[in-house]
Parts: sequence; structure tokens; C-alpha cells
Amino acid sequence: MDLAKFLCWVVLLLGISFVESRYMVYNTSHTMVPGKLNVHVVPHSHDDVGWLKTVDQYYVGSNNSIQVACVQNVLDSIVPALLADKNRKFIYVEQAFFQRWWNEQSETIKRIVKELIHSGQLELINGGMCMHDEAAPHYIDMIDQTTLGHRFIIREFNVTPRIGWQIDPFGHSAVQAYLLGAEVGFDSVFFGRIDYQDREKRKNEKSLEVIWRGSKSLGSSSQIFAGAFPKNYEPPPGGFYYEINDDSPVVQDDPDLFDYNVQERVNAFVAAALDQANITRTNHIMFTMGTDFRYQYAHTWYRQMDKLIHYVNLDGRVNAFYSTPSIYTDAKHAANEAWPLKTEDYFPYADRINAYWTGYFTSRPALKRYVRVMSAYYLAARQLEFFKGRSQKGPNTDSLADALAIAQHHDAVSGTSKQHVANDYAKRLAIGYVEAESVVATSLAHLTKVDPTLKPTFQQANNLLAYIYCPSSEINLSDGKSLIVLAYNPLGWKRVDIVRLPVVGGEIAVHDSEGHEVESQLVPFTDEYVALRNYHVEAYLGQSPTQVPKYWLVFSVTVPPLGFTTYTISTAKKTDGYSSKSYVSRIQKGEQSIIDFGHGNLKLSFSTDQGTAINYVNSRTSMTEPVKQTFSYYSAYNGSNDKEPLIPQNSGAYVFRPNGTFPINPEGQVPLTVMRGPLVDEVHQQINPWISQITRVYKGKEHVEVEFIVGNIPIDDGIGKEVVTQISSSLKSNKTFYTDSSGRDYIKRIRDYRSDWKLEVNQPVAGNYYPINHGIYLQDSEKEFSVMVDRAFGGSSIVDGQVELMLHRRLLLDDSRGVAENLNETVCVQDKCTGLTIQGKYYYRIDPYGEGAKWRRTFGQEIYSPLLLAFAQQDAGKPMSFGAASFSGIDPSYSLPGNVALLTLQELDDGNVLLRLAHLYEVGEDKELSGVARVELRKLFPGKKIGKVTEMSLSANQERSAMEKKRLVWKVEGEGSHGEEKKAKRGREIDPRKLEMELYPMEIRTVLIHWERPSAHSRINRFDA
Ligand SMILES: [Zn+2]
Repeated sequence: MDLAKFLCWVVLLLGISFVESRYMVYNTSHTMVPGKLNVHVVPHSHDDVGWLKTVDQYYVGSNNSIQVACVQNVLDSIVPALLADKNRKFIYVEQAFFQRWWNEQSETIKRIVKELIHSGQLELINGGMCMHDEAAPHYIDMIDQTTLGHRFIIREFNVTPRIGWQIDPFGHSAVQAYLLGAEVGFDSVFFGRIDYQDREKRKNEKSLEVIWRGSKSLGSSSQIFAGAFPKNYEPPPGGFYYEINDDSPVVQDDPDLFDYNVQERVNAFVAAALDQANITRTNHIMFTMGTDFRYQYAHTWYRQMDKLIHYVNLDGRVNAFYSTPSIYTDAKHAANEAWPLKTEDYFPYADRINAYWTGYFTSRPALKRYVRVMSAYYLAARQLEFFKGRSQKGPNTDSLADALAIAQHHDAVSGTSKQHVANDYAKRLAIGYVEAESVVATSLAHLTKVDPTLKPTFQQANNLLAYIYCPSSEINLSDGKSLIVLAYNPLGWKRVDIVRLPVVGGEIAVHDSEGHEVESQLVPFTDEYVALRNYHVEAYLGQSPTQVPKYWLVFSVTVPPLGFTTYTISTAKKTDGYSSKSYVSRIQKGEQSIIDFGHGNLKLSFSTDQGTAINYVNSRTSMTEPVKQTFSYYSAYNGSNDKEPLIPQNSGAYVFRPNGTFPINPEGQVPLTVMRGPLVDEVHQQINPWISQITRVYKGKEHVEVEFIVGNIPIDDGIGKEVVTQISSSLKSNKTFYTDSSGRDYIKRIRDYRSDWKLEVNQPVAGNYYPINHGIYLQDSEKEFSVMVDRAFGGSSIVDGQVELMLHRRLLLDDSRGVAENLNETVCVQDKCTGLTIQGKYYYRIDPYGEGAKWRRTFGQEIYSPLLLAFAQQDAGKPMSFGAASFSGIDPSYSLPGNVALLTLQELDDGNVLLRLAHLYEVGEDKELSGVARVELRKLFPGKKIGKVTEMSLSANQERSAMEKKRLVWKVEGEGSHGEEKKAKRGREIDPRKLEMELYPMEIRTVLIHWERPSAHSRINRFDA
């Protein structure tokens, strides 16, 4: 018998002699002890905002046959558990759940919870509505969803979250570190998932914890302490799970009962602590005590942790105490160590050999597109909401904000939820959209000064159907009606763009708001479009379209910044000009010829026998480049028959594991249809029965637009398929390519290489895939070849000179990472279901070396923020039903500098305005546009008097100056105390008299604008003057 057990026996005997009560008071009051190994015990629950169940099902605890999970239980039981012992602590992360719960609490509970928060027992960390994914979301969505949560927390509790807690997302983006970390005022960010090879190396070098400098441009001014966990976000090895149905050994410390095990549990705890200490710098380690949907009956956890802390400290080998990541971070900071430096990001993520989580970069491409479309609409709708004046009672844009926030969750836009949950995300977006649409309609009626007696309303096209189906524009104009098309431009600069609309009639003309005829072109509405349109309208709206449009009407529009113009479409008069019909020619299979098409500077040559564009010539820049564009698919790996030493691993919703590449239609022998006209030339190709595409060159544009329709991907052979397109050039890219980080900074990628460790290549394709939100480009000494995307995709450059995008995937096996459902999306009309067909666009262009950024940045904004279109009808001979045919929300003489984008213009409930401006370029990215930009704030708000401008943190929950004052200063290995890198430049404080905002490369500045007089009364006629 060892000494401890002997002593216990002594205590027991004495106890029996003198007292009968077995009541134990566990001492949980320990804090840090210098010189000892300090184990920070951090209780937490990881509550996915939708995954196997919907967000509401998780909250209320329904649908438990799928997963026993009820977040309401977690929050309900945490309160008494914390009250029972003031040393206990808990962190809570997902505001979508917390806010649902908070709204249901009594005043008494609310008061108690506020006290728990202020005492530090309950800490709200991360603080966004969800723990967003880091591969598929656009950085604007990440900012918005974090802001939504942070502003609620400051309003209700007057606290600002200090810690980033991205414990589950499947790889980590540089934008998360610097933008959604340092720039929101976080002192640290923690996460669980990094590449298994990277993790091993970091464990050996004790470099799991680093200073992460995510932005080349902002450098140490936006660095953050970042900690990757040794394994995952669960309790340490050795059995420390304490949910009611968990089977870890509980601490049995009643000697009257069998299975007394105090020393054994203490030993297991100490062993786990020492193991972790061996791979961690300083004498502080963190035990993440919790995992998915735990603490539903919090007492079971705290009972065990109380005992562990009590007995471990009696044991004395290590010092254990309740803690939070904030306390842990402060301890790391106080240790005054120099930490390893980490730059770039943690993509792609593999959790073991042959298991690269790069499939989800493309999984559910239609949902990814829907989220992106809604994101842009939300940005524009908030602008229009502001121009009209926000309605307190509604309708407003809040429910779209909420739906979009939830859709950024790491099982939502990532494409890794079950199908019914994906449907729930889409439903929420649709509901939010309908309300935002009516905000936009009201605002447009106000801004166009409609005649209230005529009550015309501007109808918008259903965004879900991407203008394939647009009843508002498909009206019969022969009976004297005209169609008014309003185009709103959410960008801060003037825009010349192309509008494409389905129309039913042919003899029509387009006029601008001053009555001048506008050049236009009619492109035939092809059979494959008719089929796709009818199919989707039936599937999504449950109706069959009554008429089929004959043409796409294409015309060029010029729209002022943050403003609109209107165009009138009517039957052409004989004396007038009218829309040019496209000249259509068909080239049969086998016919050999080269077709040159394009207008102005850009000419594209198309080989009919190869079935692809073959040459790109820009006469302005003298860029000539042989190109080739092809499709192929990867057959999805079926790991079920794998025998040792292989670990079974299928390709699935998360994991991309190809089993061979198969070119689609390698001879390219397909009939082509060429349509030419004054504004656009198009080549239509039916690549195979389930892929078609249109290659376009527009007048005045120097890029190629490729529209693809992919699906229904056949699975009759029982094999899942992952469909990619490759665009090849002759660029000597030398294994190197560049991809964006969450739509913002570009990161250099080298094939089969990682800058942080020597990569052991086991998946030469999947292991080279990266998330693409904005674009991907290649360079050699003469040229840049850029491809821009319309949503998040996975992509790579597997061969020098070539860009590859994964467009769609249909899989028949699960990849064993939890979702337990095959990613086999279908669309049903009545009872007939077929594989999901997706439609989308990408764009490519070739520029001289060093000159590609301008197009990527400017056009990238146009892709993200398309023109918002609305339609009204006008009867012939009747007076105009509205008074203002054009509008600009900013001073008519002004536009934002070409390197600045408006990310947020939003009226808050108190009438103040939240404004966010972003510099679009990195340091050195463009010769001119990487320079400082200056924005005259007064010119953004004509007719309004700015009273005060307060610069805020990125999530607008604290003043920037206060945030900077609190910022922890960290030391980096190999650098002096003040850092050896060149300090990043940032814009000066805004002078209240000049009201000019300076922005340096990659800077995003967030300000609250208070009006000189309360705006509540003056708001109504804001733009009537
Ligand atoms: Zn999760």
C-alpha cells in the first residue's frame, strides 16, 4: 500500500470514529503557482450552429435520434453549476445559441448571468454568431457575423471578447489571424486542426504556440498569439469525459464504496499534464475540458473536475485550477518568452495520410453560391436601407443578417452538414432575402420619387434563379408597355457594366434616362437554357413557366457610385434604332476551322476541332498567349476494401481523395454555336450530355467570361465524381501559384511544398488544393494569368501554366468525419430526383507581369457586388410614374479612390452609421494602387452634417484607441524587443475638422458616424433636397 492510500485509510478510520458525515469540501481555489507546471482546466462545450441537426433542433434538443444534443440544457445547467462554486469557470462561444437562450430568460436569471460574466466565471469568447468556417466564407461575411455577435455582447454585458476560439474549422486562414483576430482586438486565437505532419514537427519543436503574422502588408501591427492544440479540442488522453453517458472512469473518492481510484485518476491527470508540458513552452498548459454538445448536465463535469483539482493539488506534482483561455493567454504573456513566428496560413488540412480536407472547398457549390449572392445583396440592401432611413419596426435587413451569419458556420457554407440542415440554411437565407427585398423596394420607391397615385413598384428578380427566370423582365412590350430597368451600383466608384435579361420580344430598343438610345444586342435563349430554366422553376417554385423568353437582351450601363440609373426598354419605333440580333452560326462536329472573336482589344481564337479557345491576344498590352480549356473528373476513392497498412478513406463531403483522373471528351469534338453581335461574342458548347459551357468576350472588357452548367453528374457506374476544369497557358509558373486568403490577401503556394515543414507527399492532387474565394493566378517573368471565381471553390495548379478549379462533386460514400451522409445532392421535380445541376461563371485574363492586380482587385469587387436590378412597367402615353431616373448616394462630384472599397454602410438602431472602408491592395501589389488612399468622409454623406467620427475595432464593439491600448505586446524569436521587421504603415487618426480617412495597404478602418443633430426627424426627407 502506498503512502497516500495508507493516509486515506487513516483519515477513513478517524472519520468513522468522530464524524458520520461524508460531506467533502473540494478545494478548487487554486491559482497559478510560479515554478510549478500549471494546468489550466478550461471547461467548454463545442456547439455547432447546425450540422447533423439544424440550429433550432440543436437548441431545443429535438431530433435526438440523430444526435442527443440540446444546447438549452447546456446553458440552463451552467448557471447553477457556476453558482455552486465561485471558482468554477466556463466559456461560451456561439452567440446564435446564446442569444436564443438569453431572450428566453427571466430578469432574475439575466441578472445572475450578468454577474457571472462580470466576475469572470462565465466568459463569452470568439463571440460571433457562429464559429465560422475559414475556407469558404468571404472576409466580409466573417466580419459581419462577428460584428453581429460582438455588438450584442457589448450592448447586453458591456464586455469585449478577448479570445479567438476557432477550435473546429478544418484549416485556418491568414485572414482569421490578422483580421478576425488582431483587428477585432483578440489577444490570442486557439484552434484544433492543423496538418498532421505540421503538428508532429511543431510538437517536437515546441512550436504549437506561435506569433502569427497573417498579413504581409500589416505585419506585426496585426499579429496575434496563436495556439494549436496538441491533438484536438477534447480532454487530454487518459479518460476525462464526464457527460452522463460518457464512459471515462469517474473519480471515486469514497473509501466506503468499491473501486476507490483517487490515486489512479490523479496519476492519469498528472501523466497527461507532463506529456503536454513536454511539447509546450513555459510552465502553462491548457486542458480543453469538453467537446461537442457537452455540459448538457454540467454538474457531472464539475463534480469530477472539482475532485481532480482538489486531489491533484494535494498530490502536488502539478498545479491544476479552473481557468479560461484569457487567463491562459495572460500567463503565456507574463512568461515573457520569445515565440516562434508563423506567417501565411494553415491550409490545406490533413488529419492523416491520404486524408486531405480539401473536398469541402467545393462541397455544395450551389449553397456556396447562394451564400455569396446573399452576402452581396445584404451589403447593397443595407446601403439602400440607410438612404431611406432604417425602420425600427421593420421590415429591415436584420433577418438576412442573422441567416447569413449562421450560414458562415463551419458546417454550413463549408458544405459539411446533412442535407436537411443545408436546406435549413437555404430556407433562412430565403426568408431573410424576402424581407430585405421589401426594404430595397421601399427604398427604391423613395429614391425614385414614385408618384404615389400611380403606385408603380420596382420588382426584383428572384435571386435564387440568377436571372434565368425573371418574370419582371419577361413582359410583352407589343401593347405599348415599356419596361423600366433600374440598375443600382453598390460600389463606391462609377461603373460601366453589362446587363443581361431574358426578354420575350425581338423588335425592341433600349434608351437611357435622358432618352438616348443605348446600344444593345439580342442573344438567342438556347434550348439548354430553356430546359434548365423550366427544371429549376418547377423544382424551386413548384410551377411551370407559362412563356419562354426568346432572347437575352444585352446592353451596357453606366451607373454612378452608390447610385442608380434607369433604362427604358420598349418596342422599337421604325425611325429609331433597335437591338441588334446576334448573328448565329453552327459548326458541326468534325469541321475544322479557327474562329476569331471578341471586340476591341481582346481577341480569342477558338479551334472548332479541338473544341477550346486556343489563343488569347490583347492588342493593347501585346499579350499573346496560347490557352486551352478542358474538363475532367476525378473518380472518388472507395476505401472500403483497403487492407492494412492502408487506413480506409473514402472521398467525401470533407475529404478529397481522387482515384484517377479521367478527361471528359478529350477530342473536344462537339458541335459549336457561335453568336456574334456588337456587344458580345459567345461560343456555346455542349461538352457532354451533362456539361455545357459558354465562352464570352464582351465589348470593352479584356477578360474572358466562361459560364458553365454542370450536372446531373452520372453515377450509374456506382462511382462518385469530382468535376474539374483546367485552363492551361504556356506560363512557366515553376510549381508556383497564388490563391487568396478568405477573399483578401494573396498567398504564394508551391506545389508539393510547405514553408513550415518538409512535406511528405502522399496525395499529389488533393494535397495541393487550396480554397479559392476571390481568385488564383500564375506568374512567370513576362506574364500573369489570373482566374477569378463567383463563389468559393477548391483549386490548384497541378501542372505548370495550368489553373484547375473543382466545380462540382457528387459522391456516393461517406468519408467518416462525422456527417455520416453521402454528398449526393439531388433536385426533385414531383417524385423524380436527379443529381444537382449547377451553373456559374469564372473569368480569366492575361496581363503583363506585375499588372494583373488591378484587374483582380477591381473586377473582384464587381464579381462580389453585382448590379442590383429592379424593374417597373410604364404604360404608353401615361406620365412617368417616378420623378428621379438616377441617383447617387454620395456627392455627385465624388467617387471612392480606385483602391478603396466600401465594405459596410449601415444605419444602426440609434441612428448612427457604421462605415467600413478597405484598402484593396497589398504592399507592393501594384505600382500605383498600393499607395496610400484618402477618403473625404464629408463627400460620402452629402446633405448630412457629420458630428463626430469614432474609430472602432473591426467588429465595432470598442474604440480602436482603447483596443490598441490593451493590446498585448509579444516577443518573436530572433527579433529584438521592438521587432526587426519594417513597421507597417497605417492611416493617421481622423482629424475632426478635415474628416479625411487615410488607408494604407490592406488596412480596413471601421468608424461610427454620429450626426450633428439627432437624425431621427430629419431622416425622412434625407435625399429629397
Ligand atoms: Zn464543429
